[in-house]
Amino acid sequence: MRVLLVEDEKKVASFIKKGLEEHGYAVDLASDGKIGLAMALDQLHDLVILDINLPEIDGLSVLRQIRDKQVVTPVLLLTIRATIEDKVIGLDTGADDYLSKPFSFEELLARVRALLRRRSDSKTPLLKVADLSLDPAARQVFRDGNRIELTSKEFAILEYFMRNAGRVLTRSMIINHAWDYDYEAETNMVDVYINYLRKKMDAAYQPKLLHTIRGTGYVMREEE
Ligand code: CA
Repeated sequence: MRVLLVEDEKKVASFIKKGLEEHGYAVDLASDGKIGLAMALDQLHDLVILDINLPEIDGLSVLRQIRDKQVVTPVLLLTIRATIEDKVIGLDTGADDYLSKPFSFEELLARVRALLRRRSDSKTPLLKVADLSLDPAARQVFRDGNRIELTSKEFAILEYFMRNAGRVLTRSMIINHAWDYDYEAETNMVDVYINYLRKKMDAAYQPKLLHTIRGTGYVMREEE
């Protein structure tokens, strides 16, 4: 899961970024509204955490503009002691939830999980390819009835493949999805993780589901 964090206060930003990364999320940081808007419009993220008080363009204007462009990525607004009025405006503008500063990291994490769960519930409750199934809400993977234990990075990559079954994913697409912008894109890291994944969910099973497309990337599908 990849999160866009739009927050100009360095301390708050690094507190959120570090915490989410420890929980397996890839986090991109935008330090003003203008950069945040441009990054949100790229639609590479599963969730946007958006501060209201921002330089360049304020958070509510960013939100209004991304909703005007039909971007449906869930948005969690960060506010300072929001009045009822602020909250109503935020929700009317298209925010999915809001959190008043100061907040505890646990509270933020609970909101993030709830928003991502709501999103995955409304799309596909359970992802399936052959006898492989992945439950995005419970964060569980089964192959032929066996529970497969994955690290959060492996889980993120597998979920991306399963949501795009049959589609060839290049190494840079995988990096863009599972790592953040700061990550020096060493494409061989993708190969390393694909190997980990194969050992866990493909090696002992038939048919093989994760295939190499030489010179391009990888694809998940039942046929060779
Ligand atoms: Ca701020």
